[in-house]
Amino acid sequence: MIKAVGYAAKHSYSKLKRYEFEREEAKANEVEIAVMFCGVCHSDIHQVKDEWSNTVYPCLPGHEIVGRVTKVGGDVTRHAVGDMVGVGCMIDSCRTCEPCRTGDENYCEGPNSWLATYNGPMVPKAKADDGKNHYGRDNTFGGYSNIVVVPADFALKIPAGLQPEVAAPILCAGVTTYSPMKHWGVKAGDKVGIVGFGGLGDMAAKIAKAMGADVTVFTTTKDKLDEAKRIGVTGVLEDDTKTMTSLKSSFDFILSTIPEKHDINPFVKLLKRDKTLTICGALEPMKGVDNSEVAFHRRSVAGSLIGNLADTQEILDFCAEHHIGPDVEVIAIDKINDAYKAVIDGDVRFRYVIDLATLDRNDD
Ligand code: ZN
Ligand code: ZN
Repeated sequence: MIKAVGYAAKHSYSKLKRYEFEREEAKANEVEIAVMFCGVCHSDIHQVKDEWSNTVYPCLPGHEIVGRVTKVGGDVTRHAVGDMVGVGCMIDSCRTCEPCRTGDENYCEGPNSWLATYNGPMVPKAKADDGKNHYGRDNTFGGYSNIVVVPADFALKIPAGLQPEVAAPILCAGVTTYSPMKHWGVKAGDKVGIVGFGGLGDMAAKIAKAMGADVTVFTTTKDKLDEAKRIGVTGVLEDDTKTMTSLKSSFDFILSTIPEKHDINPFVKLLKRDKTLTICGALEPMKGVDNSEVAFHRRSVAGSLIGNLADTQEILDFCAEHHIGPDVEVIAIDKINDAYKAVIDGDVRFRYVIDLATLDRNDD
């Protein structure tokens, strides 16, 4: 076993605190990674606070991980010691179901779904017919720690030219927004709407713009209109009825990035005939859709969950090539509880990224 240290929450109501634990040594198909940076995702907060009613405690979050390979198992050829790699939301999947066989691990239909980087199988309490959890574990610990051990094929290559702290949020926020834009065929010249301008919305807007789309972000915060201008996209206030009315039936694709339940009806109207609005942020029941707006224009309302491994590698490479990435604020790990509060209160547009080197200076 390897001695590891990180920050974990013991209950839904407790703060994250320094937590010592053990990880298993890398198996033949696995790599051991010394974590350098880990992004702070809104999902981390949902999970720590048990807002999806499936949290296993202690909960040690973090699924935007960048670090260096320190050990490789005997069968690993994909990575070598010293390589800079990234780990996103998944660290394994069943590898046998139809989605897994066709490269959509993030839609794994195996008995435990995919294995999340933290909080274990996506269906933690579910057991297969033989009564066993097929991943052999009920919980996993994420990247708010100094070491992670994962199957080599779930570790992505960080391209040269991407700063590690900038690469980290691309592993979740980047691929979560890129994957639906790729799937629904966003292309140069398309008019693309991004609903919500937080961490996901910022990445979505930058990626869509780099794809050559004409991008509009919808926000409820006046200050963010300047931010939109700064990254070269149009900003619209959701309660600006005049502008909203003028935009009716004008968009080729709309991506909603709001990470909690919200009303999408004002945006469905903005789609052209036959076009799609996809929700990639919220994972909960939402207010119903006015189907007359959907049916009369043969529009679609869809959902999308993170992205597969191939898409994750693609968007890392795309961001390096186009010199885009999230705006990040690097923090020491002992500031994590303050960062959570800021994300909950302030709807910050940049991404907090933890510098794991700061773990060493903590010894309370
Ligand atoms: Zn995330
Ligand atoms: Zn599968």
